[in-house]
Parts: sequence; C-alpha cells; structure tokens
Amino acid sequence: MKQVEILLPTAAPHGFDYRVPEGMTLKAGDIVSVPFGRGESLGVVWGEGKAELAAHKIKPVSAQHTQFPPLCDAMRQFIDWAAWYNCAPKGAMLKMALPIADIDKEGRTRVETSVDTANIKLAHLSEAQKKAAAALEDKIGKGFSVTLLDGVTGSGKTEVYFDAIAHALKSENQILVLLPEIALSIQWLERFWQRFGFTPIVWNSSITSAKKRSSWQAIAKGEARVVVGARSALFLPYKKLALIVVDEEHDQSYKQEDGVIYHARDMAVARARFEQLPLVLVSATPSLESYYNARQGKYAEVSLPARHGGAELPATKMIDMRQAALDSGTFVSPILREKLAQAIAAGHQAMLFLNRRGYAPLLLCRACGHRFQCPHCSSWMVLHRSKHRLICHHCDYRIEEPKSCPACGAEDKLAACGPGVERLSEEVASFLPQARVAVMASDSMNSHKELSDTITAMSERRIDLLIGTQMIAKGHHFGDLAIVGVVDADLGLAGGDLRAAERTYQLLHQLSGRAGREQVRGTVYLQSFLPEHPVMKALVAGDREAFLQAELQARERAQMPPFSRLAAIIVEGTQEETVMRTAKQLAAASPLPRDTCRLLGPAPAPLYRLSGKFRYRLLVRAGRNVNVPDTMRGWLEAQHPPASVRIKIDMDPMSFL
Ligand SMILES: [Zn+2]
Ligand SMILES: [Zn+2]
Repeated sequence: MKQVEILLPTAAPHGFDYRVPEGMTLKAGDIVSVPFGRGESLGVVWGEGKAELAAHKIKPVSAQHTQFPPLCDAMRQFIDWAAWYNCAPKGAMLKMALPIADIDKEGRTRVETSVDTANIKLAHLSEAQKKAAAALEDKIGKGFSVTLLDGVTGSGKTEVYFDAIAHALKSENQILVLLPEIALSIQWLERFWQRFGFTPIVWNSSITSAKKRSSWQAIAKGEARVVVGARSALFLPYKKLALIVVDEEHDQSYKQEDGVIYHARDMAVARARFEQLPLVLVSATPSLESYYNARQGKYAEVSLPARHGGAELPATKMIDMRQAALDSGTFVSPILREKLAQAIAAGHQAMLFLNRRGYAPLLLCRACGHRFQCPHCSSWMVLHRSKHRLICHHCDYRIEEPKSCPACGAEDKLAACGPGVERLSEEVASFLPQARVAVMASDSMNSHKELSDTITAMSERRIDLLIGTQMIAKGHHFGDLAIVGVVDADLGLAGGDLRAAERTYQLLHQLSGRAGREQVRGTVYLQSFLPEHPVMKALVAGDREAFLQAELQARERAQMPPFSRLAAIIVEGTQEETVMRTAKQLAAASPLPRDTCRLLGPAPAPLYRLSGKFRYRLLVRAGRNVNVPDTMRGWLEAQHPPASVRIKIDMDPMSFL
C-alpha cells in the first residue's frame, strides 16, 4: 500500500489518508504514529487510502509501533459495527481501544502477568454446579455462543464461571470478566486470588495512567491472562481472547450514558460474535431481554436453582405502610424496629436499604413554602447535613446549608423533607443506641480504602447494622446477615418508565439475596404503600418466573422491547427557543416509515434543565426488522442544527430523563 487510511482515536467519523514512506511496509491493523494538527497522534491502519489527493500533498506516516500486534480483522470489524450501531464516530470507538498516548514508553508499574496453572485450586462444587461448569467449558474454543448462567442469589455462580476460567487458562489465551461496579469488586478479587493464586489485571477509570499503560501493553501483547474491568475494558485490543464473562448482566451501569453512549452487555455479544468466542451472561435476575433470548433459544441457558450448601432463600415479608403508625419525621416502622432490635440482640447483623444519598431529598421553608431548587437543573437540592451543604445530584452545584429562608427571611423555619441514608442513621441511633452502625453510599465513602474497610468490617462482624444505597445491594457476601429492611420499596416505581417494574424487582431481589447466605435464615422486610403492586406480590411469593412472564406479556401488548426497538434523540442547548424549534424541525423531517415505526415527541424532557441546558426528547419505536441505525443516521445527517444545539442519539435507551 502506498497510501493508507489511518483511523485516529479522536471524534472523527472516518480515517484520514497518509502516505507510506519509503522502506515501511504497512498492513491493515498496524498501530502507527502520524502527524496530526500541530503534534503527533497514534492511529491504526484501517485500510487502503482513497488516494483523492496527489501523493506529495499528503503527510507521511511517522512511525510504526511494531512491538504490538496489529488490531485483528475481527477487532476492526467490531469497532466499525459498534460505531454504526450506536451512531457514534468510529474514532471515538477506537479511543476506547487505544486510550493511552505514549504506548512505547516502558511502564514503571509492574503488572503481574505470569500464571502458574498448577496453583489453581480445585473448588468443591455441588453436582448442579459441576454440571453447569461443564456446560460452560464445553463452549470454549468452539466459536460464538451466548450462555445465560441463571442462578438464584447464593447459588455459587461465581465458582461455576471460575471453573470455566480455569479451564480456559490451560491454553495460552486471555479471559475478560466484566463487573458492573469495579469499586465493589474487593470481595470478588479476594475470591479470585484464593482460587487462582494470582491477581488479575484490573481495568477501570480509577487506575493511574502509569498503571493503565502497563496494563494496556500486557493486554495488547497477550501477556495479561485474566482482565477484570468495568464496561470500557470490553474495547481493549486483546491479542487472543478466548472467553468473555459479563457478571450481573442485568446491571444498569453497563449502559454508558456520557460521551459515547453504548450498552456494554450488548456490545459484548457483538464482540463475541465478531471474534467467534463464547460469552457467558451471569445473573440471578436476568434482564428481560436476556431472559427472552434464552426462552427463544437464541442463548443457551444454564440454571442453578438452589443455594449452595443448602442455605435457604430468605423469606420476604411486606410491611403495609398505610397501616404503620409512624411518628412524624421517622421512616422505620415499629415492626421493623422491633425485628432489627431482636436480630442484633441475638448477635446477628442487619442491613437497611434506602436508595437516597444525603440527609433529605428536599429542604422546604415552612413559613413561605420556598423550595431550594438547583439554579442549573430541574431538580431539588439535596441536603447533606454531614457536609453542611445543599448539593444538586445532577450537576454537583453546591451551596452552604442555609440558616434562613432566602425568599422570606424567616429563621428556624427550614424543614428537611423525606429521608436520606444520613437521616436514617440518626433515626437508628434513637432506637438502637448501642448498635454499631455504618453508612455506605457513594459519597459517604471518601476513598476506595474506606469502602473496602467498611466491607471488611461488615464481613468480620464489627458492624451490627449497615445502612446504604444501592451500593450495598450488589454481590456482597455477609454470612451472618439476618435482616434486610427496605425503607421505601416503592421508590423505584415512581417515574414509571418502561423498566421501572423490572428494575425495582431486580434491585429488591438482589438485596434480598444478601440475607441468610449461611446458617441463619434471612428475612427481608419491604416497607411499601403499594403492597398490591405486581412487583411486591412477586417478591413476597418468591415467584420470579411469574413476574418475568407477566412483564413480558405487558411489553408485548405495548409493543415495547424486546418486541420492538427504541432509539431516543435528545436535543439540548442553552437557548430555550432554539432548542424547541430544532426539536420540532427534526420531528417534521422524520423519514420513519409509518407502518413499522412510531415517533413520540418532541416533548420537554422530564429533566428539562440539566447543567444549564434546556432539553427536549424524541423517542423512536421501531419494528424488529427496521434498520434503525441507518435510518437515524440518514435523518440526522440531513439536519443542520444551529451551533448552540447538540443532538444526541441513545440507542436502546435505559434512562428516559
Ligand atoms: Zn420562606
Ligand atoms: Zn444541578
């Protein structure tokens, strides 16, 4: 090749032509450096150049990085496909594969890459686990497959896929495990180390850039054998990937909502298909999409119906809050208080769950009714009493906790409305003054270490009662947990978007899965004002199947995913009038075929103002056979919105705010 198309890790939708200098031989996938703007940039040879310009007018490639293997065809096809599917620039996708600049620089941070398979311990698996592990192992090295490993909480799913990893490690290849919240993987890493005798490479946003470089080098060269990471780890250029595991596949945090919008679980399916390798999706509460695909026979299914070691699933009980006599300003019902006190007196541990950070979600003036709203967003400022601040949870705008009302000047009339975890801990101290209590929320944990210390303290039973947001719902194994109290089981149902019921069910079910994992039989108490809601009834009956079936039928009636596909368009900008006009023009220019698609909106977004921008939303619902990405791209490319307006596409949206 004399001229090559080089894709750069920038926001460009396509590559640029460069000349191949004398004495250099390049092929597709090679990693190179090229002059770009005023400096140099890394890039990847994407194919032959278009040769639209005379050779002397285009710049030459400056260097070839031969110490790294080229990006294979499957990887480049995956990047092309992911950019197409998500209506995102190809360069932005490549940036996730090449997230570092100085790739040749010798890493000072050492990453552990040697693996001695003789150190891998044999696990004591039950018959059901052995069968499940064998089914997964059977897929390795046999091309593309997706298997849903569906097992109740505490059934030992991790040990099962660890077995598959051990099997895959026998050959010289790489394994990727995606976890939803890497910050919560401390217990996971410990279990991994105990089983395998080495630490896998951890890839997430909080690792230092030096560590990132060494890790990337080890991954690209194929030296990193097991990589565990958050969603962005999916896009790295593994040299010889043999297996991908997506743990807690239903988790919402797999959806990347800023920058390039994509769903890492769905992209993992695509990558496995391009690279012809097996993918394992793991969950106790599979997403409706994965459940449906398994039922349709598109995914293989491996189930673990019982808890490991004969532990019983926790009982779920409803506390009807319409009948609970609560004192004003308190949120824990008398019955739940009593159960918590009994459990702790008997030497067990308990958890209280409330998905609200801070002290109270709203501060109100009782003299004039003034509510503290964020000046940049359509949302209330959340009171964080421990920090003496009001904080906007959408844009992080902060002010000092006021002493008087800015509207009427009244003093001592400001009232905190509703509970947050901070306020809950205050209430707990009033009825369990002796209990050792800790609060775990993303903003109450100042560091990774503090978080891991809290988890360790809970595991070692130095905490009686752990209060927390959804951070406490995921994956943890606390052997002596007898009671889980859900302060506001209805919270997730408010707002009522497409997935509200599914999400609430998953969250509450996962939470209940924390209880009674060993000798104690756990009990989960759900405080609800909607005890008749199908989600609550399914949780009490422990009938997951009935819930999923009912939810699927409801989706089919409404022709919602997985029976159709959705794409959201968000129009935003600082000038209200211009944003509205652009959104209307966009809708008027819709090329959507009327027989297979429906356009909803434009409508002001529920979060109408965000960080000072006004927002409108449009929602496309399309039949399964419609080529949504091409339709969307054609539609938007014909638009010429004013420079102050941004139009974003969110394929398969999870959030409707
Ligand atoms: Zn006032
Ligand atoms: Zn705000």
